[in-house]
Amino acid sequence: MFNIGCHLSTAKGFLGMGRDALSIGANTFQFFTRNPRGGKAKDLDPADIDAFLVLADEHGFGKLLAHAPYTLNPCSADAQTRGFALEMMRDDLARMEQVPGNLYNFHPGSHVGQGEEAGIALIVAQLNEVLTPALRTTVLLETMAGKGSEVGRTFEEIRRIFDGVALQEKMGVCLDTCHLNDAGYDLVNDLDGVLEHFDRVIGLDRLRAIHLNDSMNPLGSRKDRHERIGHGHLGLEAITRVINHPALRHLPFLLETPNELPGFAEEIALLRGLYRA
Ligand code: FE
Ligand code: FE
Ligand code: ZN
Repeated sequence: MFNIGCHLSTAKGFLGMGRDALSIGANTFQFFTRNPRGGKAKDLDPADIDAFLVLADEHGFGKLLAHAPYTLNPCSADAQTRGFALEMMRDDLARMEQVPGNLYNFHPGSHVGQGEEAGIALIVAQLNEVLTPALRTTVLLETMAGKGSEVGRTFEEIRRIFDGVALQEKMGVCLDTCHLNDAGYDLVNDLDGVLEHFDRVIGLDRLRAIHLNDSMNPLGSRKDRHERIGHGHLGLEAITRVINHPALRHLPFLLETPNELPGFAEEIALLRGLYRA
């Protein structure tokens, strides 16, 4: 089954997001665990979650993807910022236990001049603090475009984070197609080669979700500006190969394209038409 959805506003709660998803032809969605700029999270409402779970079950929803706030930087040079990152992630994962069995995605962070080695060590340290054997959420590292001092642009960096984590079975990877393009992975001309590289370095079994975005910028630009599907440097043909690739087609695909609900509905309809049954 094709699992496709998009990023939705959390303002209406889980049931509201579930209804929004259905209204645009989606059967999964992504949401921020709190204000994307950080700050205190609202308590989740158990009645809202129960009502959503009924709806999700009726309509065969796939796994949901929670996204950590952009401000969360586990490898900041500033100890207080790292402390916030640790507390936010711990609190997010505790709240995710109210919707168990889903996915929680975060940006590895920016090492801000400390170097990639030091950055990776700090990310590993945070993961080893927050992951517990009882956790029912899978924590995903998102591959990044490589702007500024972002960690996680290359598969090798992601692998080194994995290597330091004690509870690796609680972890996975989310590939973002815009970020991959901007990082220099050629999805247009060599999708098989990119996925073979990923498999060799990280392992395809660790891949849990795809952020499906076109890119405003050319291959290797290290920019991270998402474009609507088919309107960027990836183009519709390459995106069609991504959603149908045997190594990817079973994964949840989440759009983070510059759209409101009607635009997402159009993209989802387009992609459903291009997904081979
Ligand atoms: Fe992201
Ligand atoms: Fe993304
Ligand atoms: Zn992005």
